[in-house]
Amino acid sequence: MKKHILIINTGGTLSSVAKEHGLTPGLTTDTMLRELHVVAGDAELSTMEFASLDSANIFPEDWARLAEAITENKDSYDGIVVIHGTDTLAYTSSMLSYMLQNISIPVVITGSQLSISDPVADAMENLRCAIYMAQRGKNGVFVAFNRKVILGCRASKVRSVNFDAFDSINAPNVAEINSFGMKINDAMVPEKNGIFQLRNSFSSDIAVVKMFPGMHRSLLTSLAKEGCRAIYIEAYGLGGMPYIGHDFIEAVGKLVEQGMTILIGTQCRFDGSNLSVYETGRRALEKGVLQAYDMTTEAAVTKLMWVLGQTSDPAQIREYFSVSLCGEVSL
Ligand code: ASP
Repeated sequence: MKKHILIINTGGTLSSVAKEHGLTPGLTTDTMLRELHVVAGDAELSTMEFASLDSANIFPEDWARLAEAITENKDSYDGIVVIHGTDTLAYTSSMLSYMLQNISIPVVITGSQLSISDPVADAMENLRCAIYMAQRGKNGVFVAFNRKVILGCRASKVRSVNFDAFDSINAPNVAEINSFGMKINDAMVPEKNGIFQLRNSFSSDIAVVKMFPGMHRSLLTSLAKEGCRAIYIEAYGLGGMPYIGHDFIEAVGKLVEQGMTILIGTQCRFDGSNLSVYETGRRALEKGVLQAYDMTTEAAVTKLMWVLGQTSDPAQIREYFSVSLCGEVSL
């Protein structure tokens, strides 16, 4: 039986046209219909124009609306493909993974490094992979790019020009395409472990701070004064922060005492953080910080926003960070 796939367009390079001030999204799904049918095989397609934005202009409010649009349509389609700019695609795929936990269809996000109107673009191949994955009946939020499928909360944009723009960080790909066709690794498909319920509340009162030698701890206190409820700190290596001279960890501890959530991750793209190895990490743990372990920055930041949208209770926030909700962290 023919599978019915909904294509939701949000913009990005895939649908861009060259204008006086540079490349900007402009093509609609209607104007791309011929190309979409070429890559859809025998799937039946419907389309929805959600936005026409460079993904630098995507905000958390858009994630909440997008999750709502997907929820409203999920029972009418076998799968949904979202066309999105690549720059913030991994933030969107991570946030949708939390907002749409336990969804019972595939939601596959894709984009491209060159506009579909360019004869040598990667757009057709990426759409082909996304539409094919959307027909496979695997539940969850995925990213399809350069002939691979990545779990939404494990994707990260790692190249700004190369067609192989996304990697699956600290987790195997969900699927790869080669001359044997698409091979899906079922162990990477999220298990449905509860009922689906749209949970698209969030809080954007957070900050992301990247540690560097000489960084002054007053930066943290000023963020707290500005009304931040949580800070994600990209620390060094396994999660190291200074405590001699400028006692950064002491400053962190004071913020935790005031009720702020401090989540510690790493600047290293691979392997993740583990605060229990070094003295510096253990000192931070004693102050009550939370650990991001092997989460991507995109998954950690959006989890923080999502969790703060669910609760303000420090014990519950800690509880959320002690579990993997949709495959975003290995504990
Ligand atoms: N600036 C574009 C965007 O994120 C880049 C792309 O789509 O590749 O919307």
